[in-house]
Amino acid sequence: MPRGTTLLRMNQRPDTQQNQTWQQEVARSRLTPEQLCSQLQLPENLALSMVKGDQLFPIRAPQSYLNRIEPCNEQDPLLKQILPTEDEAVTVSGYSADPVGDHHATQTEGVLQKYHGRALLITTASCPIHCRYCFRRAYPYQDNRLSLQNSQAIEWIDADQSLHEVILSGGDPLMLSNDRLETLINRLGAISHLKTLRIHSRIPVVLPERIDHTLLNHLEHCRLNVVMVIHCNHPLEIDDTARAALSRLKPVVTALLNQSVLLKGINDSTAVLEQLSHTLFNAGVLPYYLHLLDRVNGSHHFEVEESMAHQFLQTLRSLLPGYLVPKLVREIAGEPCKSPRIE
Ligand code: SF4
Repeated sequence: MPRGTTLLRMNQRPDTQQNQTWQQEVARSRLTPEQLCSQLQLPENLALSMVKGDQLFPIRAPQSYLNRIEPCNEQDPLLKQILPTEDEAVTVSGYSADPVGDHHATQTEGVLQKYHGRALLITTASCPIHCRYCFRRAYPYQDNRLSLQNSQAIEWIDADQSLHEVILSGGDPLMLSNDRLETLINRLGAISHLKTLRIHSRIPVVLPERIDHTLLNHLEHCRLNVVMVIHCNHPLEIDDTARAALSRLKPVVTALLNQSVLLKGINDSTAVLEQLSHTLFNAGVLPYYLHLLDRVNGSHHFEVEESMAHQFLQTLRSLLPGYLVPKLVREIAGEPCKSPRIE
């Protein structure tokens, strides 16, 4: 695996932001192409090539994530996840603004339902990081997200007895303040037919300091089973700070799972995927899904051929115990479940 020694070097860097609160970190996470290049000692002319992508979807990354990127290395797999490119402005057939059918799945403001027994809440538009492959990068958040003042979404969930699980999504649901999360968790916990609260978040990995005592307390006292699905794509994303956040989360959730996206130039090798499974497991997380890319506009340069994905999975099955091999899936708009990809 490339960059074998880099993680150690990164962890030895003094963390000048250590005393910042997570909200201050988020406030500082918006970077111009010039700032990103200067901080990571990248060539100045790279900033020029990033401008178009940045205009379409601004660069955002917290300092704790930037600390894990190897300076001067344009090929760094963590950098590539946040680096805008000119490719993003290219129109490619088969790619769209809503590749997974979110629009048709919208039931009421802030509520999506695609699968039996589960409903998804768009809790916020915000994220501490902007992942260039994000399938919701063009999502119309202003027209469709949860409002705690307006209880329409909660009433809709309350009225549907077939639901057993609510998924908090976004944006990143852990961007909500602890008070707002507490209110939401309590309202959902009061709905007797719900059994499980699932939280999809990249924050335990990219902004570990946000996993604070108050949040842990709210999760611990939630009446529902809490399933946390983190979104980690590369083993080098799990540094000591992320590992510590995951170890704080582990005792207060029922399950700690990971889903990754298979991304060209980032994790498209058996060695990286094998290492990712081991690293996750050592941090208390089980690999759950490996997603083929959702074909959102501006992301075609990340696509990995499905036949290649099958080869990776075949090799992984020969290297890892079954519980460390993620399920390869594609989300297809209108299908009643994630579609397993079986060769
Ligand atoms: S954290 Fe998730 S929702 Fe936010 S930009 Fe990244 S992929 Fe998209």
